[in-house]
Amino acid sequence: MKCSSLGLLLLLSAHPAAAAKTDARATLTALQAMDMALSRVGYRLATANVGMCDRRQPASGLLLQGIEQYGADFRASAAVLFALGAAPGVTGVIAGSPADRAGIRANDSVKALNGAALPLAAGPGFDRMAAVLDRLETALVAGPVHLDLERAGQNLSVTLQGVPACASRFQVKSSPGFSAGANGRYVEVDAGLLAFADGDDEIAVIVAHELAHNILKHPETLNAQGVSRKAILGKDARRIRETEVEADRFSIRLLASAGYRLEAAPLFWARFGKAHGHGILSDSTHLRWKKRVALIEAEIAAVRAGP
Ligand SMILES: [Zn+2]
Repeated sequence: MKCSSLGLLLLLSAHPAAAAKTDARATLTALQAMDMALSRVGYRLATANVGMCDRRQPASGLLLQGIEQYGADFRASAAVLFALGAAPGVTGVIAGSPADRAGIRANDSVKALNGAALPLAAGPGFDRMAAVLDRLETALVAGPVHLDLERAGQNLSVTLQGVPACASRFQVKSSPGFSAGANGRYVEVDAGLLAFADGDDEIAVIVAHELAHNILKHPETLNAQGVSRKAILGKDARRIRETEVEADRFSIRLLASAGYRLEAAPLFWARFGKAHGHGILSDSTHLRWKKRVALIEAEIAAVRAGP
């Protein structure tokens, strides 16, 4: 797996344009399900492991989206399917989260936060929604947040309170590839890799590895050390490999705290390795998959043996 603890911010700026227009609804529904699965798993890992994070951010279980995140081919269908206008819309809420308990529902529009109107869609890209998330997160740190919503033409307001969580945002990257990455703030997973994962236990394996990079501050450390992420040989490659091993080990602790099935980790990486682990250049920065599976199995045994 080409995990990259890169300092680059890869954001969801357009959804896949390859599918035929007649399939738009199915594509959007599938993408929404992926968004929800990634966020559900991220929320569970980030809240269960808050004791292991020194960078924290209240989590609410509220997923927001903007119409401008959809490419031209999908915009009209997204507007209908998600009741998505110029205001930010609710992609969904995580079951049992504060957003769920507050009564927020998928396809609600979010008009205002603590009485101040939220920005409406302007240009393409993720800038507006990143700014909306910044405002929501900042407000949650200060305390309960009042949201003015619109649902099927009716106005309602709710109060949302965060729960302690590790600070990371979880995003699906609309790519058919098989990569995932962490940049210190975001955990990003390719749609192709999410589709390859079988259920939440396997998605958790991917997310726990990337979240481990963020919790262990690998992106910042590698940046501070001037490590080239393109290195395939020498000191830089060795340093990257060390962070990959650390993330694999730590991911097992994160999965255990959150109650995910630990056996999913070696099974997933073995399955992934057989399907995608044949890149000859990946060996210097990432362990060959058989070694990786052995390391993960050893870590599971260590976790089960107790502290
Ligand atoms: Zn990694």
